[in-house]
Amino acid sequence: MFRSFSKRLRLPLRGAVLTATAYFVCAAIALQLTRFDGGIAIVWLAGPMLFARLCSAPRRCWTALTLTCIPAGFCASILFGFHGLVALPLSLICIAEAWSAAWLIRRIYPRFGRFQSLPEVGSFLLVAGLLVPVTTSFAAALCAHLASGIPYWTAWRDWYAGHALGLVTFAPPLLLLLRGETRQWIASADRRRTGEAMLLLGLVAATSLMTFGQNEIPLVIIPFAPMVAATLRLGRFGAISSIVILVTMGLSFSLAGYGPTTLLHVSMSLKLKVLQIYFATIVLILLPLAAELRSRRRLVERLHTAEALHRAVLDRMSDIVVRLNSDGTVRYASPSASRVSGYQPGELVGRSIFHLILPEDLPIVLDARRRALANPDEPAIVEYRVSRKDGTVVWVESHIRSIVDSEGRSTGTVSIIREVTQRRQMVEDLTMQAMTDHLTGACNRRAFDEALLAILTSMPEDSEAGCLALFDLDHFKQINDRYGHATGDDVLVRFVTILRGAVRDGDLVARLGGEEFAVLLGGLSLDQAHLVCERIRTRLEDTAIQDSLGNIVKATVSVGLAPLLPGEENRVVMTVADNALYRAKQEGRNRTGLPVAGDFEDRRIA
Ligand code: GH3
Ligand code: MG
Ligand code: MG
Repeated sequence: MFRSFSKRLRLPLRGAVLTATAYFVCAAIALQLTRFDGGIAIVWLAGPMLFARLCSAPRRCWTALTLTCIPAGFCASILFGFHGLVALPLSLICIAEAWSAAWLIRRIYPRFGRFQSLPEVGSFLLVAGLLVPVTTSFAAALCAHLASGIPYWTAWRDWYAGHALGLVTFAPPLLLLLRGETRQWIASADRRRTGEAMLLLGLVAATSLMTFGQNEIPLVIIPFAPMVAATLRLGRFGAISSIVILVTMGLSFSLAGYGPTTLLHVSMSLKLKVLQIYFATIVLILLPLAAELRSRRRLVERLHTAEALHRAVLDRMSDIVVRLNSDGTVRYASPSASRVSGYQPGELVGRSIFHLILPEDLPIVLDARRRALANPDEPAIVEYRVSRKDGTVVWVESHIRSIVDSEGRSTGTVSIIREVTQRRQMVEDLTMQAMTDHLTGACNRRAFDEALLAILTSMPEDSEAGCLALFDLDHFKQINDRYGHATGDDVLVRFVTILRGAVRDGDLVARLGGEEFAVLLGGLSLDQAHLVCERIRTRLEDTAIQDSLGNIVKATVSVGLAPLLPGEENRVVMTVADNALYRAKQEGRNRTGLPVAGDFEDRRIA
């Protein structure tokens, strides 16, 4: 334990001796110049000096710094302050005050020392301006009262005022000077900045001289203007330097009997208190201002960095990032926009994005935007077509997110857009394949069922929805058997060609399976459908198909017709057509069977 203690003492000996000397000088000046009628020193410089020294030193040096200051403080007190034994407890209280303020502020704000944020400045004011000097004042006032007979509360008030104002006024500039802030600023400043600093600080010195160098007019507000300007332009360096200039000149002139305090007809001790309140107020204005400025400057720097990063990412991204105002006007488009839309980002900015979207797709895009704006936490995803500058159309997928301001209001949207034409084409091809019969290219059973259901459920009850015609090739098995399966396939393909040639473009032609087909003849009456089916039947009958061996293959087809009654079930309509087909087969094939009365009723009961 003893070894570690001696080590702690040994290390920073030179620094400690220097600090103790400075402590002695500060204490001596304060006691000699600012102590009136045997009372308490009004301006206490030594405490802020030790506080600043402790805050700028590593914790391992604290013991040495503190212990060496005790004899220094004691000597100053004995020589210039309260003589006698009371000098010891008073100097101990002074040192304990600086030590505990430094210790407490480090506990509350571990990275204390730069005055670069409002919480840091606030913590400092709480500790140095209130908690610590209030506490030490009780003990110090008691010592002073016992030693010199000053009334206890007068001693308490003078001690608190001198020490709190001293810490608040002198500690920040001293601390920042000790941390090398001023040196760093000077080292990093270029000629222009140095010139600006000299001008502004020269103005501070000039206005301080105007204020304190005469005792005619109280110009105390005047130095504020260059001091605020120095803080705004030069940051903390400007704030600290102007405080040092003002305080040094203000104190020197006031102690020499010049300046606005001479206009006050009160005791010198009260004049100095007023002066300290004036200095402390300036510190309380400039330090938070510098802290706020610094955090804003850092925020701006961070924003610039983030923006550079964000631009680097956007430049390399194949997806497009588009930022829109609430009305759809483009505010920003990333470089990849030109690849997908053919427009350079600059051509898009300021224009409405909606003119690029195909009119048919606009409603779903607007709906997605509405959803995104209404719910900022959820992106809305939408696929739509965009017309490129060259007139071609591409499919894109857009993830739209709302941008909200600090009050939670949507100010626009940001979309990440990706071209999906290929994917879309693939999906369409797959859908097509899933809906198509491979051999004939007609629709398959699934597509037919869906189309029939759509007609029956979507058409109004009293409308002429059309007819369903079912086709079944006659004795197809025999064709296969006689000419081979491949020839049978040719017949199937040829029959689909005949079907397509006989119906209108919008009518659905489907292969239901094997040699069975169906056609949905939209909008036709039974008679009209009958005529169409007869035309198909006779065309097939008249068609001669040649097989690979040169044989002529003839085929016929039987048809069954059923009207499409809106609201009816698929199953019912199919059965009616199937019955008609069955009858056509029964009656000798190669003919069109019509539904008979009672077919629908029978099926519904079944
Ligand atoms: P019906 O006049 O009574 O309809 O007699 P059919 O021979 O046409 O009827 P059936 O149902 O007995 O035979 C249908 C035949 O269709 C049996 C099957 O070999 C043939 N078939 C089914 N699918 C295909 C196909 O994809 N290609 C070929 N070539 N033949 C097929
Ligand atoms: Mg059949
Ligand atoms: Mg058949």
